[in-house]
Amino acid sequence: MAESYDAIVIGGGHNGLVSGAYLARSGAKTVILESRYKTGGAATTDSPWPDAPEFKVTRLSYVMSLLPPTIMNELQLERHGYKVHAMGPYYQAFPEGGSITLFADDAKRNYDSIAKFSKKDAEAMPKWDAWLGGLADVLSPLLLKVPPNIGSRKPSDLKDTLQLAWKHRGLDVRTIADITRLFTMSISDLLDDWFESWQVKAPLAVNGVIGTWAGPMEPGTAYVMAHHSIGDVGDGHLGSWGFPEGGMGAVAAAMEKSAKSFGAEIRLNTKVAKVIVKGGKAVGVTLENGDEIMAPVVVTTLHPKTAFLEQLDASDLPVDFVTDIERWKTRSGVVKVNLALSELPSFTANPGHELQEHHTGSVEMAPSIEYMETAFQEARSGKPATRPFSDSVIPSTWDKTLAPEGTHIMSMFSQWVPEDWANESHQEELEAYADRLVDCYDEVAPGFKKSVIHRDVVGPWEMENEYGLIGGNIFHGELSLEQLFTMRPAPGYADYRTPIKGLYNGSSATHAGGGVTGIPGWQAYNAAMADKKKSGRLSRKKS
Ligand SMILES: Cc1cc2nc3c(=O)[nH]c(=O)nc-3n(C[C@H](O)[C@H](O)[C@H](O)COP(=O)(O)OP(=O)(O)OC[C@H]3O[C@@H](n4cnc5c(N)ncnc54)[C@H](O)[C@@H]3O)c2cc1C
Repeated sequence: MAESYDAIVIGGGHNGLVSGAYLARSGAKTVILESRYKTGGAATTDSPWPDAPEFKVTRLSYVMSLLPPTIMNELQLERHGYKVHAMGPYYQAFPEGGSITLFADDAKRNYDSIAKFSKKDAEAMPKWDAWLGGLADVLSPLLLKVPPNIGSRKPSDLKDTLQLAWKHRGLDVRTIADITRLFTMSISDLLDDWFESWQVKAPLAVNGVIGTWAGPMEPGTAYVMAHHSIGDVGDGHLGSWGFPEGGMGAVAAAMEKSAKSFGAEIRLNTKVAKVIVKGGKAVGVTLENGDEIMAPVVVTTLHPKTAFLEQLDASDLPVDFVTDIERWKTRSGVVKVNLALSELPSFTANPGHELQEHHTGSVEMAPSIEYMETAFQEARSGKPATRPFSDSVIPSTWDKTLAPEGTHIMSMFSQWVPEDWANESHQEELEAYADRLVDCYDEVAPGFKKSVIHRDVVGPWEMENEYGLIGGNIFHGELSLEQLFTMRPAPGYADYRTPIKGLYNGSSATHAGGGVTGIPGWQAYNAAMADKKKSGRLSRKKS
């Protein structure tokens, strides 16, 4: 006979763990089903080199920022080992010579650093920070809101739409204009409006292209910058960027412990093949081995193309919804290069292998906006970037658990390779790409190449085939304007519900995803609880 639970969560990535923890905490008999040998999904810490297990890398995602304190506190994550080290500054050494360091919390040093290139830009920077902070005040609370179903004439949807409009009635013409600019402009054009020096604009553009199948000159990249910057300038709702102790896998480990402490069961190496639908309702799942597990509530946290096009029959779904998911854009061209280093890089502009402040934050390879745009245009035309862009960090400068004393881990988040590299491994070309990236750092930090003792290169194909990130997109789907808020993942279904009753969507392809935010998992739980109140679907476990 099939086993039975109150709730099933498909996927043990961080969103699945959050959803499962909340469900179990509410008293529901909950099982989390994970296909891999471990939980965490894209939030993972691994030892990729069997002969050097003392090195631990955060193989995919690498920095935290958007996990709301509510989730952290309610799931008692700190008690379960969650600890974050605040990151140091943004640093860029230029191949032409010199460097720039941008400090998040030191206006005086920021001024001096920028004034080397432009006094005007040094004066503009506090105004830019204040401008962004003002927009973050508007946008960051929205991350925790359920998008209304705009256009629907159902009374409850109309109420939600009106409530949202009412809440924002105080916004003035300028703020609305600024938000419009943010949503529609390229990060390059936006920065041109504020700054004159290319050296200042380059590091500021980085957040506009992270994980994005678009160069900094593409409209929409200004919003991507804001999505990633909310953590930097947050108003207390969300934290600043930081390195979790033990890498991103330690975040998932804390969530796993939390879920278990509330009574959730976690099954590893357990791949879900299908969601069982009867009479338009989800009633359970079929595993790859043919076993069935039944529950009146199912939360999926998988990529929408897997969740809706593979694990459900199209005949159970509205035609428009299937079309929307088929058209879902899910490209990135991201390559993650993880290094073990024998010593910290000594930059020509700031020499010395000893630990210095510029080693402790983002160590960028983004020397100009044109450099980044060229890397993207090459990938768009079908070839990997000759000179790759990279947002790199050295978390072992803070976290001593990742590498033996004196050695370091460097996590390089790099772009771009062609989008269709998700269809084939291209491992040899990826290694050549990683060589070129290392060479770019060697130019500004001679001897860097020699300091690399181990290397791990993860491209889009591995991201799709090992981690379920279809197309290699790091967020389960692009953060382009047509895939945000009420459109994420499809119009009419942005409220963490799906066309199937009892099936909820807690994946990064919903509003506030992607990123390691936990918000989609939490919202899927909230939706299930709200429906339970109406229908009694989520029965309480008898203690
Ligand atoms: C290279 C890279 C760098 C990134 N950097 C950052 C960063 O620095 N900061 C940040 O905040 N975000 C970052 N992200 C994004 C972030 O990691 C993801 O958005 C987030 O981790 C996704 O979490 P999730 O739980 O929604 O999905 P996932 O992590 O994708 O979890 C889904 C889980 O479902 C499992 N699964 C798949 N198929 C099945 C099946 N059939 N049955 C059962 N289980 C299944 C998978 O194994 C996986 O564990 C990065 C992502 C990547 C790839």
